Amino acid sequence: MEDCIFCKIVRGEIPASKIHEDEDTLAFLDIHPVAPVHFLLIPKQHIESLSETDSTHQQLLGKMMWLAPRLAAAQGCQDGFRAIINNGRIGGQEVPHLHIHIIGGKNRLPAMIRYD
Ligand code: 5GP
Ligand code: ZN
Repeated sequence: MEDCIFCKIVRGEIPASKIHEDEDTLAFLDIHPVAPVHFLLIPKQHIESLSETDSTHQQLLGKMMWLAPRLAAAQGCQDGFRAIINNGRIGGQEVPHLHIHIIGGKNRLPAMIRYD
């Protein structure tokens, strides 16, 4: 995708602090971290959101889920972390390229979500 920010990061057109790369996935630090550890794990392939996946993506999705705790541990999350996938308008997804937020640090994260 020509104009997608994360595709540009995959192609090396925008710099990012990469922490992992393989043939299918890329992980890099979030530009606006909300916790001491905050990185994004994305497929290199442009998939707009979790809702845009189909059965051909099962292996890729499984790989990302498998990678998440390993990358989190490598970033210093020895005692847990949170993985978040914002999806679509209601989910508050701002970048339309599937990504898993992996968030952690030394202290327990605040409660999930308060619905006002
Ligand atoms: P979303 O709201 O779509 O789930 O999250 C998008 C995330 O991407 C945000 O946390 C935002 O800080 C991050 N982000 C947006 N643009 C860039 C960028 O150019 N580089 C990096 N490293 N992160 C970005
Ligand atoms: Zn993209």
